[in-house]
Amino acid sequence: MNEIKRRQTQQVQIGNVWVGSDHPILVQSMTNTDTVDAEGTALQVKQLTDAGSEVVRITVNSPEAASKVAEIRQRLDDMGCNTPLVGDFHFNGERLLRDYQDCAKALAKYRINPGNVGKGVKGDEKFAYMIEQAALHDKAVRIGVNWGSLDQSLAKKMMDANLALAHPAPADAVMKEALITSALTSAQKAMDLGLPKNKIILSCKVSNVQDLIEVYADLAKRCDFPLHLGLTEAGMGSKGIVASSAALAVLLQQGIGDTIRISLTPEPGAPRTQEVVVAQELLQTMGLRNFTPLVTACPGCGRTTSTVFQELARDIQHYLREQMAVWRLKYPGVESLNVAVMGCVVNGPGESKLADIGISLPGTGETPIAPVYVDGERKVTLKGDNMAQEFIAIVEEYVET
Ligand code: SF4
Repeated sequence: MNEIKRRQTQQVQIGNVWVGSDHPILVQSMTNTDTVDAEGTALQVKQLTDAGSEVVRITVNSPEAASKVAEIRQRLDDMGCNTPLVGDFHFNGERLLRDYQDCAKALAKYRINPGNVGKGVKGDEKFAYMIEQAALHDKAVRIGVNWGSLDQSLAKKMMDANLALAHPAPADAVMKEALITSALTSAQKAMDLGLPKNKIILSCKVSNVQDLIEVYADLAKRCDFPLHLGLTEAGMGSKGIVASSAALAVLLQQGIGDTIRISLTPEPGAPRTQEVVVAQELLQTMGLRNFTPLVTACPGCGRTTSTVFQELARDIQHYLREQMAVWRLKYPGVESLNVAVMGCVVNGPGESKLADIGISLPGTGETPIAPVYVDGERKVTLKGDNMAQEFIAIVEEYVET
């Protein structure tokens, strides 16, 4: 497999984790609870953590929310959950950090959006205060620029300058340049205000796949700050997953990206943790990290008219994910286990032999037996109604031994 060479960057500490250069690309997520609900927010952070989120962002949007951040941190600590919390500030971050010093201390990172800190001298003062707080409390900062909330005065200034040229650039090119300029000039301002360079992470999120790739590829060339990747407003369900994966995969392949978030709009009733699972699977399928043993399964076809094969593939993947909280501690390296569940004799034995452990279920018209392969060798042949349970038992035995 081709090794992806990571872009070399500053190395930034966020609470108990590190970001940048050859540190593992971190999975991030964000709560959607009201931060005022300290108990509910702490529980969701814990759920996201259990699913695999390594950094969790929470909205800090009001005095009531800011007043609860330290309690959320304490509740998490009491649950044995040390996941770093990032405070998402917009419009009033400076006031909240000023009035709630326990909030300023409890967070591991502040997300500052230069597009909505404020305008003119007042805006500069607010930005400066937030940066000074980060420096004072030794916190990391993500300067997170977003297409939807780009600094309008900067955008207008750059648009006007472009129009004055003999050959103006296309408007969308100027807007992309404005995004990058906003991130880089804000980072420079932060350093001028005394924030060390190795406390800064940048992001420039847009909602179009091609634009995101272009913006980040350019940004990556122009600085050595670690970059947080995410396609903003990616959307719901498969659209959000496909769009995010398409954009992020291209950048990750180029070694760009030090933390990622898959910004999925959850289907009503769907768990918030889905975005974490997708982020992990993206990194794992690209060979960048291993989180959970992944199941290789064929799509099934006219040779698999029963649902036994699909159900086993689903149950095994679910089972493996469920076990990881315990297995990760007991069996180091188990996350790279490769399990195959195949539907018939055409590709079943071949794929099963390539996996660490695989089963080739019988297709329609085949003898109703299922050979199981372990480390490339046929180990046992299952038959009867309990093949699924027996296969799970073989997987368990393999992991334990
Ligand atoms: Fe169909 Fe067999 Fe191929 Fe699966 S392995 S897709 S069941 S032919």
